[in-house]
This record gives sequence, C-alpha cells and structure tokens, in this order.
Amino acid sequence: MTRYAAPGTEGALVSYKPRYDHYIGGEYVPPARGQYFENPSPVNGQTFTEIARGTAEDVERALDAAHAAAPAWGRTSTTERAQILNKIADRMEANLEPLAVAESWENGKPVRETLAADIPLAIDHFRYFAGVVRAQEGSLSEIDDDTVAYHFHEPLGVVAQIIPWNFPILMATWKLAPALAAGNAVVLKPAEQTPASVHVWLDLVADLLPPGVVNIVNGFGAEAGKPLASSPRVAKVAFTGETTTGRLIMQYASENIKPVTLELGGKSPNIFFDDVWARDDAFRDKALEGFTMFALNQGEVCTCPSRALIQRGHYAEFLDAAVARTERIVPGHPLDTDTMIGAQASNDQLEKILSYLDIGRQEGAKVLTGGQRIEYDGELAGGYYVQPTIFEGDNRMRIFQEEIFGPVVSVTPFDDYDDALKIANDTLYGLGAGVWTRDMNTAYRAGRSIQAGRVWVNNYHAYPAHAAFGGYKQSGIGRENHRMMLDHYQQTKNLLVSY
Ligand code: NAD
Repeated sequence: MTRYAAPGTEGALVSYKPRYDHYIGGEYVPPARGQYFENPSPVNGQTFTEIARGTAEDVERALDAAHAAAPAWGRTSTTERAQILNKIADRMEANLEPLAVAESWENGKPVRETLAADIPLAIDHFRYFAGVVRAQEGSLSEIDDDTVAYHFHEPLGVVAQIIPWNFPILMATWKLAPALAAGNAVVLKPAEQTPASVHVWLDLVADLLPPGVVNIVNGFGAEAGKPLASSPRVAKVAFTGETTTGRLIMQYASENIKPVTLELGGKSPNIFFDDVWARDDAFRDKALEGFTMFALNQGEVCTCPSRALIQRGHYAEFLDAAVARTERIVPGHPLDTDTMIGAQASNDQLEKILSYLDIGRQEGAKVLTGGQRIEYDGELAGGYYVQPTIFEGDNRMRIFQEEIFGPVVSVTPFDDYDDALKIANDTLYGLGAGVWTRDMNTAYRAGRSIQAGRVWVNNYHAYPAHAAFGGYKQSGIGRENHRMMLDHYQQTKNLLVSY
C-alpha cells in the first residue's frame, strides 16, 4: 500500500494556491464583485483553498476574451490543433500522479481509480480527438454537369461548457478536447464543489494554448452558470449535471435558439440472467465484480448500476455472493492505494444519500448490508463517508426510481426475459445498462431493447473514447465521446457552386 501525502503536508505532490481566481484571456482575474467561497476537501471536511465567486460580469469578461481568441483559433490548421492536443496529453501523462492526487483530494475518490482510470481516460481523449480531427474530411457532390455542392466543417465559435463534480478533470476534458479540436474557444464553468482540480490541470497546460481559447469562470450555478448558458454570445451550451438543471439549461438556451448537449442523470439497470450462476467460476466472478460497480466512485457516477435485477432461478445464491463481495470493498483514506471506496464529494451529497437510506427503510426495503454513515477518528474525522449499501425491494419504490448518486444499489428479482426488460425500462432515465449472460442471443436482444444510450454486455463502466456515450429519455440529448462529437461542435457549411 502507498499513501500519497495530503496536499499541504510534507512530500505532497500537489500544492494548491490559497485562492483560485477566474482564468480569463490567459491570466488569472479576480472576481468583479471581489467575493470568494471556501472549498473543503471531502476527505476531512477542511477548507483547503478559496474560489472566486463568479457573476454575470465575470462571464461577460470571459466571453470577451473568448470572442477575441476564437477567429484566429478557428483558422488554425487541424494539424496545428492536433499537435497542441497531443502536447496537452503528453504533459498530463508526465504529471499523472499529481493530477490523480488533486482529483482524489478534492472529490474524495480513491487515488487508485484516478491513477488507473480518470486521468488516463482524460489523456486519451486529447489524443483521440487530435487524431479524429485530422482524419475528418469534407465532401463534394456533383449536382449536375455544371454544379457542385461542397460541404465544409466550421467551428461554432465560442461555446459554453458547464460540468459537475463527480469527475472534475475528466468531465472538463471530455468537453474541452472535442470543442478545441473542432476549433472553438470555450468558457467553462466547473462545479462549485470541485473547481480546484480543473485549475490544477489548467496550470499544467495553459502555456500550450493561445490566450482566450480556454477561459474558466468559477462559481455557483444560479450566479455564474445561468448567465453563461443564457448568453446570446455563446453558440452552444454543453452541460453535464442533473436532469432538473438540464431542463433549466434548455430553457435558457432556447431564448437564443442555441443548441444544447445534455448529459444528465440515470438509474441504470444491471441485469443478471440465471446462466451467470450456472457457468464457470471466472465468469461468475466477473459478474459479481460487475454488481459491485454500484460503489465505484462512491456511486457518484451517472451510469451507476443502481438497480440490480437478478433472475429468480439463482437469486438467493447470487445475492448472498453479491453481499459478501460488497463487504470486501475496502473503505478508507482516498490517498491510500488500497482504498476501494473513499468519501462522498460534498456534505450535501452525503446528507442526500443518508436521507435516501431512511427513505428506503421507510418504504419497507430490506437493508442487506451497509446502511450507515462511516465516522472516522483522526485525519479522516469530519469527512463524508458512507457504507456501500444493498437494499432489496421492488421497482416502484423511490429508491428504485430516483437517482441517489451514492454507493447504494436496489435489488429485485425477475422471472424471465420479458419481466427483466419491463423492469429495466420502467424508469424516466435511459443512460446506461448492464446485461450479464453467456447467451449472446439474449444479450443482443436485451441490448437492442433496453432504452439506454449505452448497454454494457458482460462488462460495466468502461468508457473508451471511441464509443458514443449519452442518454435516451430524460438522461439527455446528444452524445459525447466518439468522433461524432466533433459534429456537435461544428457547423456544416454548404457551398453550391455553378462553374
Ligand atoms: P448539477 O446539475 O447540480 O450541477 C452541474 C453543474 O451545473 C454545476 O457546475 C452547477 O454549478 C451548474 N448549475 C447548477 N444550476 C445551474 C443553473 N441554474 N444554470 C446553470 N448552471 C447551473 O449536477 P451535479 O450535482 O453537479 O452533478 C451530478 C449530476 O450529474 C447527476 O445527476 C449525474 O447523473 C449527472 N452526471 C451526468 C453525466 C452524464 O454523462 N450523463 C456525467 C456525470 C454526471
């Protein structure tokens, strides 16, 4: 086991600034109204830095800078932009550990995950979109002997990006890499719970980008996010967050007829067919590992498999093994490499999860394991920790229908394929789903019939850059990742030419 030194202590890989201002036009700029807010680490609840509290004035300044930078950036060659994205990726790779520690300290997630997944995925996004933009081609159609239709890709100009707190650096880079590759300038607002990680990342790579191409305005949703999403000066709003906030973003953007990409909430089903149990131990083991994915990132994942549907034939055996497996998830200090579940990202989020633990009990669901807050002494005292929890109940309960966004899974049995599909689709959401079976016929049918943008078959929670990700139903509009993402950040120009 390795324990990374906490920021502010001897040997720390990350040293935060005491204050983070907005980053506008290539420099740090204090907030127009001079206000800051405290940023606590979920590891111990202690404030470790202060953050500029952005308002509409700050957003306007950032938009000025972005508009000044956008034309020249949009005219750079795709080769030049790709080179810059690749250099960003190289810089991040050389600083994998500090970035991983920064993300863990501010979000509370285990460093083993940020080292193995969050930061490597973020790096790969820059490389992927560097490659994709160079491979993108326009088109030419011959209309008749004299006339040709050309299609060109053009950047949108200045785009707004608003992100959540559950993967601070990864969410920023998921949005920035395709927008920059496509030639846009960006004003990005990080979540108020986790802005410092984005600044740690930015400080590392800022010199690689022309001033004004990436601008960061910190602050709260209603004060900084709303003016950004409502501005007639942005060509598009890309948002990741709650479904309720997504509705507001659509309203704001509709005032100016601006396109939106919305990556919203989920209540993903994870379906285990009987043959999982009947098969060899290795496959069964993999499926049990897939079940425990509800606790990955403390359950603060939009695609958290928060509803487990288990076929009745082996329901009891599977569930016993799943409970035992869940009880082997090691909680503890997020900066220990052995820790498998760390702290919830904020006190508000902890309170929300605890309230759902009460709701589940009041609804008559049975707690099979967990169900309590974890309160540590010593250096983790004051942090936001909760046990991985398994509820058994039925799909009409609130704990099966509402997004808890914590390490809580609600389990229910099903009879057959049709029953599984009925339960799986009985939700407002449609983001992710898991299907576990060796019968590829069943897997294919289920995969095509579940109303979700991403269905994992015999795996869960993989996010390769080249696989499209996004929601059906109230889980969102549009897709992220995959080369199709470039289209979401570009206009198509048609030139119809008669010679
Ligand atoms: P949130 O909606 O509360 O906040 C997200 C961002 O929106 C923050 O930056 C916040 O400041 C801003 N915001 C809030 N109100 C706003 C307003 N009125 N105008 C403009 N901006 C506003 O979400 P959260 O709690 O930070 O994140 C958790 C949610 O994000 C969950 O629902 C989760 O499922 C979802 N999520 C979805 C995906 C996905 O890809 N589909 C990925 C990660 C998280």
